[in-house]
Amino acid sequence: MKSIEIDLHKELKKYFGFSQFKGLQEQVVNSIIYGNNTFVIMPTGGGKSLCYQLPALVLEGTAIVVSPLIALMKNQVDAIRGLSNEIGVAHVLNSSLTKTEITQVKDDIKKGVTKLLYVAPESLTKEEYVSFLNSVPLSFIAIDEAHCISEWGHDFRPEYRNLRNIIRKLGDIPIIGLTATATPKVQEDILKNLEIPNANVFKASFNRPNLYYEVRPKTKNIESDIIKFINQFKGKSGVIYCLSRKKVEEITQVLQVNGITAVPYHAGLDAKTRAKHQDMFLMEDVNVVVATIAFGMGIDKPDVRFVIHHDIPKSLESYYQETGRAGRDGGEGYCLAYYAYKDIEKLEKFMTGKPLAEQEIGFALLQEVVAYAETSVSRRKFLLHYFGEEFDEVNGEGADMDDNSRNPKTKKEAQDQVVLLLKTIKDTKQIYKSKEIVLTLLGKINSIIKSYKTDTQSIFGAGKDYTDKYWMALIRQVLVAGFISKDIESYGVIKMTPQGEDFLKNPSSFMMTEDHNYEETADDSIIV
Ligand code: ADP
Repeated sequence: MKSIEIDLHKELKKYFGFSQFKGLQEQVVNSIIYGNNTFVIMPTGGGKSLCYQLPALVLEGTAIVVSPLIALMKNQVDAIRGLSNEIGVAHVLNSSLTKTEITQVKDDIKKGVTKLLYVAPESLTKEEYVSFLNSVPLSFIAIDEAHCISEWGHDFRPEYRNLRNIIRKLGDIPIIGLTATATPKVQEDILKNLEIPNANVFKASFNRPNLYYEVRPKTKNIESDIIKFINQFKGKSGVIYCLSRKKVEEITQVLQVNGITAVPYHAGLDAKTRAKHQDMFLMEDVNVVVATIAFGMGIDKPDVRFVIHHDIPKSLESYYQETGRAGRDGGEGYCLAYYAYKDIEKLEKFMTGKPLAEQEIGFALLQEVVAYAETSVSRRKFLLHYFGEEFDEVNGEGADMDDNSRNPKTKKEAQDQVVLLLKTIKDTKQIYKSKEIVLTLLGKINSIIKSYKTDTQSIFGAGKDYTDKYWMALIRQVLVAGFISKDIESYGVIKMTPQGEDFLKNPSSFMMTEDHNYEETADDSIIV
């Protein structure tokens, strides 16, 4: 073990020029070198690529790297070639190669020169490639952006689902999954789909202490508010995300008219224009990119000082990814989201018509977005809780870096109400989602409540003295406190946790923060 560690440092220096591993890299590299199935969850910028590139460079055989984006693969291949001064050390294998190029790639692999072979998941469905790869020594297969496997991720790609079947044809090689975004549910999905339940799991913290989170109500004055906000940054770089192309164009114009240099970026622009606008942003010819989610994957501009969401995104994972592009250099990163419940309703309407399961997932993810936007607890704590991570909102790193922590709302004792809530959940046998729990507390009927005859139970209507908004807010806060959990498998049914059971047995003080009131919102259309 010791000698490998020393060698690894030498190899790290030799190939990458670094004298130290970052975060969990060394443990991950060791896990892969020793032939273990390995699962790596690290936020963007955490240094995931090195985790598989270094083992690939030092191990016998070729490592296959599955990646969803051709442009990203090309960047990676160029970077590795630069590290080792050997062109053949890394290749991309895809359908755009000529016959001669494919022969060259195959020859390099057969000679043992190629250490990393990047492929898109579609390419791996080609029988010809699979049988070739089966005939050469392979070190391992790495699945980058592994969350694409899960319907619960923010970027599900059906072709990722078939990967396990293909890997089986490649023989018994270690499988490495890597992702920058994974809620506990997505993590579980990845391990299940890749059939690596016993993989060594390495999870880095998702906390980005230098990012400041704020949510503002979306009012009619949003445009002047954005301009005022950007002007505080005096020529620094930032990104504004909008959901529609139309909005991207509109906002770009508004900014330009107001003397802010900005370019639009969305899939409706041709590739040349997109590349030009991206370069202008990277070279700082303009300060702001106004973009749809088409912008951002693989863009590494370290000094983005703000990320504004003109429209709230469809999931908290997307939000985390998109805001994650701010402050990569460790400096200031201001993440401002505008929120109106009306926008959520529009997004919901947008989903109707999709297959039922997809709708249910979409709704559940949106509910989390609502909860985040409306919460009064530390935004950082809320986000990290969503990713399955505990955060100490008093002493944790970045504890005062959000609007709710800087300007806390008043708190009120809610011990009795928490008891009532938990009792309601228990008495109704933990079968309800939050909506039915609230209806039960208020003593209101819907068809679900009727079918379970909850209206005949003594608990029915026991919380009438408070509003539906109050109970919804309390559910969210009790959830973040860990007394209850949301069962994702059943699309959000609320279950008691052991802590909740304890609280019910020995109730103690529970200070509830009042939620924001986002009632007053603009009639601002987010959909094209
Ligand atoms: P990810 O894929 O997780 O987003 P990258 O692999 O792109 O992250 O790495 C992010 C940055 O960190 C890169 O600029 C990379 O060169 C740098 N980096 C990676 N490992 C180290 C290390 N051990 N020491 C210093 N910098 C590192």
